[in-house]
Amino acid sequence: MAETNVEVTCLDCAFQESHAALGRARVALAAHASETGHDVDWTINRVAPGVERAGSDAGVCGIDGCENQDSPLLDWRKTADES
Ligand SMILES: [Zn+2]
Repeated sequence: MAETNVEVTCLDCAFQESHAALGRARVALAAHASETGHDVDWTINRVAPGVERAGSDAGVCGIDGCENQDSPLLDWRKTADES
């Protein structure tokens, strides 16, 4: 499943909800914040596998060894040498 799991967490009380879509999480966040005046945060736990893969290939996760030298994202370097 490639659906997003968004955790909505209140910083000021025990309010916590999990939503499968960003839109619903945003509504829940805004609703609680406006009802209580609390400071509500959210965490995106999962994104589409392709997005995670692209992030790993680009080495943007910041973890050593995460870069994928065989990534199709890096093919442009090879073709640039042909001139
Ligand atoms: Zn709250």
